[in-house]
Amino acid sequence: MSHYKLKVRNLHFSYPDGHEAIKDISFTIYPGESVGIIGENGSGKSTLLLLITGVLFPDKGEVIVGDVSVTKKSLAMIRQRLGMVFQDSDDQLFMTTVFDDVAFGPRNYNLDEKEVKARVDEALDMVGIPHLKDRAPFKLSGGEKRAAAIAGVLSMKPDMLIMDEPTSGLDPKSRRRLINTLKGFSHTKIITSHDLDMVLETCDRVIVIKDGEVAANGTTQEI
Ligand code: ATP
Ligand code: MG
Repeated sequence: MSHYKLKVRNLHFSYPDGHEAIKDISFTIYPGESVGIIGENGSGKSTLLLLITGVLFPDKGEVIVGDVSVTKKSLAMIRQRLGMVFQDSDDQLFMTTVFDDVAFGPRNYNLDEKEVKARVDEALDMVGIPHLKDRAPFKLSGGEKRAAAIAGVLSMKPDMLIMDEPTSGLDPKSRRRLINTLKGFSHTKIITSHDLDMVLETCDRVIVIKDGEVAANGTTQEI
């Protein structure tokens, strides 16, 4: 079970060119909740996730994970609690083999190599690419890279799983496997997607973002 509540409080963010991407967003996600974040292209979903994970920092407002505010100083601690799959997850693969990429997180936790291997094998099975473990990540197809990046985050067993468009680029079989994995993940999940069926199947609650603001926030039945 997750330990940390996520609080997003009066968040404002503009990109350096002046574009105001997030305009006063507030919500709370309770431990163990699964929340889908949906909205049109350019509505601010990815920006919001980048603010939650401390890749970007807000102009105003704050993000609080448990009782710790996400700041440059607390980032290392926050990152241990959150596992994030970015929309451009290609950038998350940088080792010479898929195995080493997926092992990177667990190795950082100083687990012994037997436990690391067990975690990698389990994560690769969950996303259906155990056969790719000795391949070079840069030689994979788009969907295979996506699956490898997801495995890299699952292998860390994060307290909170944050995924930006996890099913994009996945074929129906891989998509189904991922949905089943997500349904089996009992910790907090935050998932942005245009794949509404996936969101409805994996999430309890949906937050609709429109033009950098929360347009609706309710259970999947309500919305
Ligand atoms: P999509 O569904 O297409 O992934 P999104 O909801 O994730 O869209 P964001 O990527 O968060 O949208 O972008 C929100 C707004 O900020 C958009 O208007 C976008 O053009 C703008 N934006 C995104 N990245 C930058 C950037 N690096 N510099 C300036 N503006 C940006
Ligand atoms: Mg996006």
